[in-house]
Amino acid sequence: MKIQAVRHAVAPLQSDIRNAVIDFSQMTVSVVAVESDVTRNGRALVGYGFNSNGRYAQAGILDARILPRLMAAEAQEYLDEDGRLDPLRAWDIMMKGEKPGGHGDRSVAVGTVDMALWDLAAKIEDKPLYQVLRERFGCRTSGNEVFVYAAGGYYYPAKDRQQLREEMRGYLDMGYDTVKMKIGGASLDEDVKRIDAVLAEVGDASRVAVDANGRFDLEAGLSFLAAIDVYGLKWLEELGDPLDYALNQVFCERAASPIATGENLFSMQDTRNLLRYGGMRADRDILQMDPVLSYGLPEYLRSLAALRQAGWSPSRCVPHGGHQFALHIACAFGLGGNESYPHVFKPFGGFGDNVAISDGRVRIPDNPGVGFELKQDLMAVFTAIP
Ligand code: MG
Repeated sequence: MKIQAVRHAVAPLQSDIRNAVIDFSQMTVSVVAVESDVTRNGRALVGYGFNSNGRYAQAGILDARILPRLMAAEAQEYLDEDGRLDPLRAWDIMMKGEKPGGHGDRSVAVGTVDMALWDLAAKIEDKPLYQVLRERFGCRTSGNEVFVYAAGGYYYPAKDRQQLREEMRGYLDMGYDTVKMKIGGASLDEDVKRIDAVLAEVGDASRVAVDANGRFDLEAGLSFLAAIDVYGLKWLEELGDPLDYALNQVFCERAASPIATGENLFSMQDTRNLLRYGGMRADRDILQMDPVLSYGLPEYLRSLAALRQAGWSPSRCVPHGGHQFALHIACAFGLGGNESYPHVFKPFGGFGDNVAISDGRVRIPDNPGVGFELKQDLMAVFTAIP
């Protein structure tokens, strides 16, 4: 098995939504295609990847550093003892010459290629990715269903609370039982009214999560907690800056509700620091590291090991990103579930075209790889990579 070429392109993420911190109208995504010399039905197998939303495309780092290293390697360097494509070895090749620390866009570039390598590795074995992961890493999980929640409730131009309710009703009608909405992009008074509107629709506060995207300082966060903690929401996400562990610790001390964070931590060391210094509580809080934004599965495995060592269960992890790569990882490693974007970040969010949600869970089809081929609009983007 040999990697013949890695092609990539920058795709727009055209969207008029915003959260408390950024709007998405200028957001871009890197899409990659890893071509192999393995053929099936006369066609070469190709693995696909993309970086999840919230971080921009990584064309420069891919072209200047990550891909030249991969393409200069001999095939034996990224194959395991059985001659199988081994993305863990490919990771070491891609990271050659990179100093520790300073995680950021580099972690997104590497994670994007890693997604494509795992898609390809599973296609070569002609199995769904979660099954390949279980076999390679000796996971003792079973089944192919994963909890997913509908992330939405963004601030749209001219969107009122009635429309917000209708959006949430739509998710429940699709089969989701848990929803998430944005906060922190309006006044506290207005946000409380928005939350009340969503609760009137969903009925049960433990099925509604809120996400401030790191917007609150200490004072604003405590004011929010004073108004909202009593509701008993599913979780309160990224109340303060994602790297301000002391601030997070105060929020954890004050909040009875679960606190969720981690989508902007891009390395095992950052995650470990959150657990050491961020006040997070292993009995209720949620860790949302995104395997694509944070160097791919090899680093995610190191993060899982670090959290086990700190007394955490993988079931407290619910990755950010709404991509099917994390869905397979959640299934194989027994995570608590995965984010899902039914209406936003198209065509990257969502599942295969005919995959239904039922009782808040999605059943992963048994197509080889991640299953991108079941999602037509996304395949149209992948196959257009020059
Ligand atoms: Mg978030």
